[in-house]
Amino acid sequence: MNALAATSRNFRQAARLLGLDPKLEKSLLIPFREIKVECTIPKDDGTLASFVGFRVQHDNSRGPMKGGIRYHPEVDPDEVNALAQLMTWKTAVAAVPYGGAKGGIGCSPGELSRSELERLTRVFTQKIHDLIGTHTDVPAPDMGTNSQTMAWILDEYSKFHGHSPAVVTGKPIDLGGSLGRDAATGRGVMYATEALLAEHGKSISGSTFVIQGFGNVGSWAAQLIHEKGGKVIALGDATGSIRNKDGLDIPALMKHRNEGGALKDFHDAQVIDSAELLVHQCDVLIPCALGGVLNRENAPHVKAKFIIEGANHPTDPEADEILAKKGVTLLPDIYANSGGVIVSYFEWVQNIQGFMWDEEKVNMELHKYMNSAFDHIKAMCKSQDCNLRMGAFTLGVSRVARATLLRGWEA
Ligand code: GLU
Repeated sequence: MNALAATSRNFRQAARLLGLDPKLEKSLLIPFREIKVECTIPKDDGTLASFVGFRVQHDNSRGPMKGGIRYHPEVDPDEVNALAQLMTWKTAVAAVPYGGAKGGIGCSPGELSRSELERLTRVFTQKIHDLIGTHTDVPAPDMGTNSQTMAWILDEYSKFHGHSPAVVTGKPIDLGGSLGRDAATGRGVMYATEALLAEHGKSISGSTFVIQGFGNVGSWAAQLIHEKGGKVIALGDATGSIRNKDGLDIPALMKHRNEGGALKDFHDAQVIDSAELLVHQCDVLIPCALGGVLNRENAPHVKAKFIIEGANHPTDPEADEILAKKGVTLLPDIYANSGGVIVSYFEWVQNIQGFMWDEEKVNMELHKYMNSAFDHIKAMCKSQDCNLRMGAFTLGVSRVARATLLRGWEA
């Protein structure tokens, strides 16, 4: 099922559970604004290359719209739309004062040089600078982008509007980035996992983990879970998958990766088929890569008892049903990977105050926000008699609906 159809289906189910007026339901689903721009750059060899860039601003009833910018060949209007919508519910579940947005450029960042990426980012910023801003829409990194991308956006935006550090989050520390932001999504995944396992009388140190994705989210989740004594027994990224039944040595693997090594060449592991990764025996499965990876084909074979969605929409609604029947407990994306946007909020607050927090405070506040959101989701599950996905969706949608109704529509 396409990402937008899947996300909208979850939203509609939540709206029904909440008994929302169908007219309000329709208004919440339609994005506030969709932007599509052409970005042409000269390549290093002098030839031209054209790309399409998007920014979908989904909802701003609870505050400035917020969400990442993705550079990936699969970026298309439906995907960006779905991800923008997910950000609206995610910021509401986290109780940070933002709406939702998402952007992206359909490109293969690995095939572009650093200077081509810089030109592309600057052209994209020139095309959207009037529509983003500290109090309107605040971009951040996502798949294929990083703190350097944010530095270029900040610089280009500031040429038009004056120095505005809070127009993007996930910036380099030297430009006003927050300590702890780089690890934040993975750290949030770890806190979410800890909270869910504790609920079931279990702990990270007594559990085995399989992680899909070794980018920003997956690698930090793996490191922090390893630090807590969890055994990461299999791991994979776009280049291949590996396993070690006694637990992978994550610090050694990080070193190997940082020295340019591919996962499959790591000495202390066995290479496995990537399709096998998601159905590998383990207690906890953490998909931290692309959307739609758990579907009706592989869901019946999943052996994990818990799934933590580090990625956005990794589970198809059909897989959701199959997994629920199998008794798998699933912690949904709009809660499980909200650590990134929560620390983005802390970064924005620090920029606006002109004050810098130490890393301990960032992590402590993140822990508080994650635990509080988990308690609110559980309360929703109880009152709505629903699973964790619907608990999170009903929590997010009800907060956005209340804000929308309070503002009203009167002209
Ligand atoms: N791209 C991240 C997400 O999907 C972070 C967004 C942000 O910090 O604004 O949640």
